[in-house]
Amino acid sequence: MATVLDRTDQPATRARDAVSPSPADTRLSLIGLNREELAAALHDAGVREKQIRMRVGQVWNAIYHRGHTSFDDVTTLAKDCRADFAKRFSLERPKIVTEQVSSDGTRKWLIRLPSNNPRAPSLEVEAVYIPEANRGTLCISSQVGCTLNCTFCHTGTQKLVHNLTSGEIIAQILIARDTLGEWPIGPSASKSRPAPQENRLITNIVLMGMGEPLYNFDNVKQAMAIASDGDGLSVSKRRITLSTSGVVPEIARVGDEIGVMLAISLHAVNNPTRDLLVPINKKYPLEELLDACRNFPGVSNARRITFEYVMLKGVNDSLKDAKDLVRLLKGIPAKINLIPFNAWPGAPYECSDWEQIEKFAEIINRAGYASPIRTPRGRDIMAACGQLKSASEKIRASQVAS
Ligand code: SAH
Ligand code: SF4
Repeated sequence: MATVLDRTDQPATRARDAVSPSPADTRLSLIGLNREELAAALHDAGVREKQIRMRVGQVWNAIYHRGHTSFDDVTTLAKDCRADFAKRFSLERPKIVTEQVSSDGTRKWLIRLPSNNPRAPSLEVEAVYIPEANRGTLCISSQVGCTLNCTFCHTGTQKLVHNLTSGEIIAQILIARDTLGEWPIGPSASKSRPAPQENRLITNIVLMGMGEPLYNFDNVKQAMAIASDGDGLSVSKRRITLSTSGVVPEIARVGDEIGVMLAISLHAVNNPTRDLLVPINKKYPLEELLDACRNFPGVSNARRITFEYVMLKGVNDSLKDAKDLVRLLKGIPAKINLIPFNAWPGAPYECSDWEQIEKFAEIINRAGYASPIRTPRGRDIMAACGQLKSASEKIRASQVAS
């Protein structure tokens, strides 16, 4: 049963459901299970105790190293074992509803997650791939919608909220690798090691899609453990960044338990403005947020925290704001990312003028922060930061009407 939350509900922190390609398919999806859960599933399927470790390794390799979607292709398993597993287990992905490709090469997938919840028979989530000269970043979602209501963010206006399971988070990476053709097939298929980092299309992962990852902590943690596992997807934790609006009590756990890089959606340099833009600030004000950053486990000049700052005309973009920003971050190993506001239909803000962004950036630059402006990507397909919002809301609206 999938977990669906109203915006008024407290988000559940755990929803360890499985991924399945359709509600009619009752097989257990193995995507997103950790090794212990995988072992338990194989045990239930009658695999003998002596063989479990080996079978877990074979299945793990099939899913995360080879990218197999069907047991027919898992030739490391004996034929009868393949047939037996295929009856009980699924390696299929959730369905891609649409794939859009931007003129700049950015790709956006709308993915349908089936659910058994009659209030929301299917949910949709978006993932975005951004190719650059020397890297490729996959931006994934942690929730459908978001319970927080940042006033400049399109996702925050979506009513329906669902915590993605570990499998649903991982499936976004598998789908991206499927469509980008990034599995070791052909002559390299016999090699047991994952593709080297430098030849990869997806070199980086950012949890900057839909949702607040720290309100879905356990599933995000398990998914990132799988994404960084050296026997499979093997994306280094140094190349995974989790972005939070500032859920202060969970921040230290990102360093201690997940071990990925941290980004903070700062967006304002004083409490009144931040209260307006990022309302969670009323609960965890700037002072507490910055303290959590100062004390972030493992933070150093080599492992800086990224501070995101969306440029909103006349709201947070004065040159005094820029100077205050530099002052505020003093002593914290930081990178600053200025994000030109990405407008969406009905948005109550405008992007700052380019000239103003450049002046703002110059102050940041002079304080020693390199190249702070983030180039907007995929604007023509509404794939940019904060523009992701699925059609799930419409599904619910039509249900209410019927
Ligand atoms: N919920 C998390 C992660 C998802 S949002 C968070 O808030 O950090 C990813 C980033 O996009 C955040 O920095 C967010 O503030 C920013 N963002 C949201 N809407 C935006 C918009 N319309 N234009 C530019 N950036 C936006
Ligand atoms: Fe949620 Fe992040 Fe959007 Fe705020 S910016 S509403 S926390 S997704």
